[in-house]
Amino acid sequence: MQIRQLFDSETSTFTYLLWNEVSKEAAIIDSVREQFERDSALISELGLTLKYALETHVHADHITASGLLREHFGATVALHENSQSRCADQLLLEGQTMHLGNELIEVIDTPGHTNTDISYKIDGAVFTGDALMIRACGRTDFQSGSSLVLYHSITKKLFLLPENTTVYPGHDYNGRTASSIGEEKALNPYFAGVSEKEFIQKMDELNLPQPQRIDIAVPGNMACGLNKVA
Ligand code: FE
Repeated sequence: MQIRQLFDSETSTFTYLLWNEVSKEAAIIDSVREQFERDSALISELGLTLKYALETHVHADHITASGLLREHFGATVALHENSQSRCADQLLLEGQTMHLGNELIEVIDTPGHTNTDISYKIDGAVFTGDALMIRACGRTDFQSGSSLVLYHSITKKLFLLPENTTVYPGHDYNGRTASSIGEEKALNPYFAGVSEKEFIQKMDELNLPQPQRIDIAVPGNMACGLNKVA
């Protein structure tokens, strides 16, 4: 599987384009509406068939390009079942798989940042969205988030993957691009040597401001980025 990491500097969002070199079938994870031209040009240049436009969760900080990508390429738009998104073509649950040629994308349900978080696993890599980030994790104070649930998603699911699995997060605000499960188990200050109780307390003490675009982004993403709000 080929992986291309793309970045939206306005929102520090990573978008990933994955494709099977033989079949040329592709999936995009966490597209950003403002980057539709860039990403559609790349897909066309590479001669790819965009089969899936996937989301790691219903985002609060940017609007997806999934609806536009579906219109342009005929991609299937898919996100977590809990989103109850009416614009999605497919609602995903733990254990479901998708194929790009003979290669597999597996759905791992990793709630806690929101109740719609999915990590997508492929051979040797996992796309963790805002569940597990590099030396960090997603906040848990809105969109049905739960620190207890996130702690279990990370420590009882993602940390059970092979240690050399590459971790591709949904965001990074410090210029980093990727990590590994082993590295995060050893070095992530939210989880390494941190008990469930300590983690919950740590998250309670963050007192983060409300994301600036949440009121626009969440309804925008529930409409696959095709509404006229923003
Ligand atoms: Fe998020």
